[in-house]
Amino acid sequence: MDPTLQRRLIEEVANVVVNHADELTMLDQAIGDGDHGLNMRRGAMAILERLDDLAAKPLPDALKAAGQTLVMKVGGASGPLYGTLLIALGKELPVAPIHGDVVRAVGTAVEAVKKIGRSDLGQKTMLDVLGPVHEELALRGPELLDRVRKRGAQAADATVPMKAIKGRASFLGERSIGHMDPGARSASLMIAAICGVMEE
Ligand code: ADP
Ligand code: MG
Repeated sequence: MDPTLQRRLIEEVANVVVNHADELTMLDQAIGDGDHGLNMRRGAMAILERLDDLAAKPLPDALKAAGQTLVMKVGGASGPLYGTLLIALGKELPVAPIHGDVVRAVGTAVEAVKKIGRSDLGQKTMLDVLGPVHEELALRGPELLDRVRKRGAQAADATVPMKAIKGRASFLGERSIGHMDPGARSASLMIAAICGVMEE
């Protein structure tokens, strides 16, 4: 991938996290321990500190390095989960991926998150965005990026009526119903940022 594009992608994803940290914290205050914004912000800042280095690496190496940074620097469930996602993407993607490579790699990465989280779709987590986005991505056709972004946003909204079965929110049982899952929201924000850069 073009290093300038890769740099923009990293920056835009990190920036959207930083700019929405308070919102993510508020969502986690409602059904978790209120640290999701802080955790995600810490991860984003750690990535931005390495921006030059990450932008210069081949795409697979950059993804693996970014994932390792998240695993090491971010506390909470989300650091290791997003870190695992990026590391799996880095292992799976070739240096110059085409559509089919991306679909396959995202599928493998979603499975890696399920495995480390011992979780699955339908449990009110980030997976309830990542899964549908993978599904949408696999459908080719016009306006793919726009459809992927919309599907991510809709999928995050769809976590509101769900009851949490994994993560801290599951401690609330029925009381987790009626709030958007923080990790679903952060996933949809980052996916929208990626789509925005790729559309340009
Ligand atoms: P913590 O839950 O440790 O406080 P965060 O608040 O940073 O960590 O992240 C919470 C988010 O992580 C949840 O909203 C959910 O989307 C996601 N999550 C938590 N546990 C799991 C799991 N086992 N599998 C998938 N996602 C999970
Ligand atoms: Mg939390």
